Amino acid sequence: MSEPASGRPVSVQPGDVVRLRKPHPCGGADWTVVRIGADIGLKCTTCQHRVMLTRPEFERRVKVFLRHAGSDQAGASTGGPTAE
Ligand SMILES: [Zn+2]
Repeated sequence: MSEPASGRPVSVQPGDVVRLRKPHPCGGADWTVVRIGADIGLKCTTCQHRVMLTRPEFERRVKVFLRHAGSDQAGASTGGPTAE
């Protein structure tokens, strides 16, 4: 019962590019995933600033996946982590 509405964990891997709901103070809203572990490392594509987010925090802040580095999700546009 603790599952999010999407029903499955977000598939994320280093190299993915995501857009967060709230823009960075530098003006950029797009982040590159640089590290996956207990926390998820993100690097601002605009100012190169790095932050670490827990997975729940990451999933809450991500608005849309702009690019998946892997090909395992190629063509699967339904049931993804993007809400709209
Ligand atoms: Zn920035």
